[in-house]
Formats: sequence, C-alpha cells, structure tokens
Amino acid sequence: MTSLDDLPLRADLRGRSPYGAPQEPVPVALNVNENTHGIPEDVAHDIVRSVAASIIGLNRYPDREFTELRRDFAAYLGSDLTEQNIWAANGSNEILQQILQAFGGPGRSLLGFAPTYSMYPLLASGTGTRWIARDRQADFELAPEYVASVIAEEKPDVVVLCAPNNPTGTPLDLETISAAYDAAPGIVIVDEAYAEFSEPGEPSALELLDGRPRLIVSRTMSKAFAFAGARVGYLAADPAITDALRLVRLPYHLSALTQAAARAALRHADEMLAVVDDIRGQRKRIANGLADLGYTPYRSGSNFVFFGGVVDTASVFRQLFERGILIRDIGIPGHMRVTAGTETETTAFLEAMSALRS
Ligand SMILES: *Cc1c(COP(=O)(O)O)cnc(C)c1O
Repeated sequence: MTSLDDLPLRADLRGRSPYGAPQEPVPVALNVNENTHGIPEDVAHDIVRSVAASIIGLNRYPDREFTELRRDFAAYLGSDLTEQNIWAANGSNEILQQILQAFGGPGRSLLGFAPTYSMYPLLASGTGTRWIARDRQADFELAPEYVASVIAEEKPDVVVLCAPNNPTGTPLDLETISAAYDAAPGIVIVDEAYAEFSEPGEPSALELLDGRPRLIVSRTMSKAFAFAGARVGYLAADPAITDALRLVRLPYHLSALTQAAARAALRHADEMLAVVDDIRGQRKRIANGLADLGYTPYRSGSNFVFFGGVVDTASVFRQLFERGILIRDIGIPGHMRVTAGTETETTAFLEAMSALRS
C-alpha cells in the first residue's frame, strides 16, 4: 500500500492532518454548527424549480461573474452596497482561500487570535502562508488595545478576526475591529459566519467598510441560512478587493446550479431566517441549563455554546455519542462546544448532560 510518505508531497504539508469533524449518522448532530432546522418545503420547491430551469443551459459555462447573484447578496446585506462590493464562492472557506491566494502565500503571514476557527491554519498551510496564532484574553475576549498591540508587533500581511468567534462564541465590538484595521499593515478579514445569530441591534463590520479598502467582511449561507450543503459563501469589500480575487479564482468557479439555488434561497430570506430567533432561544436554554449543572458557559453571539468545567471531555463525548448525540471536543482541555439545534434536540442534549452529572 502506498502511503503519503511515499509521495513527493510538498515539504510544508508533511505531517499535517486534514479537517476532520466526525460525520456520523446520529439522531442529534450538534457538532458542526449547522442550522438543524430543515429548509421549508415551499422554499425547497422553489429552489428545485430554479435549479431545474438552469439545467437546460448546462451545456454552456455559467456566468463567470455571477452578477445577478452578487446583486442579490448586495440587496440582502443592504448598507448601500452594490454588486461591485460583493464576491461569492463555494462556501466562505473558498472565499478565505482566495483571499490568502491573493494577499497571503509564501513569505507572507496570517494572524488570528486562538482558540479560533480550525480552518484558518489549514487554509494558511494550503496556500503556503505562515500562520501566526496569538492568544485571546481572559474569557476569550479581545480588547481594542490588545489587538492593536499584537498586530503592531507581528505586522502580519493578513489578519482574520472571527466575529462571533468559533469555537468560543465570543462577539466582537466594532471598536476592536477598527483598532485592528488601524494597526494592520495589510488586509483585515472579519469572518461573520454567524452574524445573523447576534442579538438584534448588534452592529456588523459591514458598517465599517466605507473608507476602509483593506477590510473584508466574509459571510456564508451555511449557518443561519440553513444552506450548508449547497456550499455558498460571499464577502463584502471595496471593489478593488474583488478585482484581486479575479486573479486567483478558477474560471467559472460557481456552477450554474449553485447560482440558481442560492438566488432562489435568497428570494426566501425571511422564511429561511425565520428560525434564527428560536435558535437564539435554544442557545439561552443551553447556557442556563449548563450553568445549572455547574458548567461554565461563555457568552455567545452565535448558534452554539462553548462551555468549561468538563472534567473529562473524551468521556463526555463518548457517553453523549452512545445516546445518539454528537457535540464537539475541540481539544481544549475542560471545554466543549455544542450547537443550538431545535427545541427537541436541545432537550435531548440537556437531559443527557443532566444524566451524566447524576
Ligand atoms: C462554519 C464556518 C464557516 C463557514 O464555512 P462555509 O465554507 O461557508 O460552509 C466560516 N467561518 C467560520 C468561523 C465557521 O465556523
């Protein structure tokens, strides 16, 4: 059997592990922060009709500029954005990869504040970008002065701020983002994968885009939009940023099927996002329930709760798994992460956690 070691693999990829969140067919899967509510049936039918109509034209390459989809995203985001400010790709992971292809790469660096999204170091290594992980502050929070001083010290080519942060759920205020921008010599990405789950009235980094041409706000349809399987991510930034990404994207990277499905889903944004309120409610139930059991949940602006006080994370993971419940053991001692699912899933999780305690 040939192994990786037998292949002429790039030296900087030797010894690396691929992304590998477990994909097990369990009744209650709360480990990758999906929206566990299904797509409403009427919306599903409209998406099917739109995708079906696009199939007739699949002999041709799709619109390389996905202009209509970009226009739809601009309308969805509001804040005076136009399609020139928008870019899209197959998931925000591809968005982040394209940003690193254009602005990172060999001899350049990406700075993030750990613990943070596990894909950042992997995307850095795939693009030959040096990954710099600096610690978050107490309770995983970040203050403007701290972020600015770390950036001034490291002088990274790209900074990524995950807001709210995965896996900790920590929201990030605009003062910190703007301090990061002022201190950064290069690109600043704000990964707002979970923005829709923030408390109503919480501002988005979109508000900071005007006059900040090195700022990129990354979004996804994978979480609040319940569209993880379709693979659609997007960004808002100065039009010059999208020009840079045109240099590195594969031609026709967004299939006609993806464009049709995403546009159809966006037409039903209100209905697709109707469960966000309920998910916030389940997040609150989880935090309160875990606190009652003696765990320490952290503040979260996302659709998941990060909690400490776990004596043996591997054992809790295994015992929940035996009950058909999957949550995330991130490898941070004493801490675990659980997605806020439906009311029934949340109840199953909390009852199981209570049973483990007794
Ligand atoms: C889930 C997640 C994404 C989304 O990735 P997609 O490729 O859009 O599915 C991006 N950033 C963070 C921090 C996430 O947790």
